[in-house]
Amino acid sequence: MLDPDARDRYLRHILLKEIGAQGQQRLLAARVLVVGAGGVGSPVIQYLAAAGVGRLAIADDDTVALSNLQRQTIFRDEDVGAPKAECAARFARALNPGIDATPIVERLDARRAAALFGEFDLVVEGVDAIATRLALNEASIAARTPMVSAALGRFEAQVSLYKPWAGADLPCYRCFVPEAPPREAALGCAEEGVIGPLAGVAGSMAALEAVKELTGAGETLAGRLFVFDGLSASARTVRLPRDPNCSLCRTIDRSVT
Ligand SMILES: [Zn+2]
Repeated sequence: MLDPDARDRYLRHILLKEIGAQGQQRLLAARVLVVGAGGVGSPVIQYLAAAGVGRLAIADDDTVALSNLQRQTIFRDEDVGAPKAECAARFARALNPGIDATPIVERLDARRAAALFGEFDLVVEGVDAIATRLALNEASIAARTPMVSAALGRFEAQVSLYKPWAGADLPCYRCFVPEAPPREAALGCAEEGVIGPLAGVAGSMAALEAVKELTGAGETLAGRLFVFDGLSASARTVRLPRDPNCSLCRTIDRSVT
């Protein structure tokens, strides 16, 4: 049962027949790990904390830079130089004191991620390198923890959800992007630039997918990719096929969800 304050705080969720009090209870009981407290991570943390995700952990080894503030809206000017994970956790607790928000000031490699992912119901990643995303994809499969993935590039955003073990046709991230491009390190948003409000689009979409996956509402983006083009204000959702020869998910057991 939700106490009167919780009923009041989450009333707009409870009113939705797709969520309801039961869905809100699920959110309150959920454990979600956000990897990357950057442009995508900021709105993810903001909306998942507001939504009442009961246990939120935030992994990021970086510190807040002045050039982050143009799009990473959970940080303030006075946070510059401080660890992002700690600032983000503080923000989440201030927004919603009823939840648990834990900073993890670490860069996760595949092994550490695999050990950690097992403790969570869902991972939302907004990291800035494909190589890192591939490592997180591996960890997600090893731990069987679904992963919402969101990426930004200049004026374009892409969002999807990966849980290849849950269906015969569902891809993993490697099916979509088999390897990191060799020059990737030089092509991040640090070099190319990114339009600030786009982080809000991608992060909000990722948070929405997380809420849907946790509550069972609607149809998630598993097996599909949402692509938003900010310059033309157009969006499309394309099917993301499984690669039957994918070196990673080819042999996983797809009969157990
Ligand atoms: Zn695959």
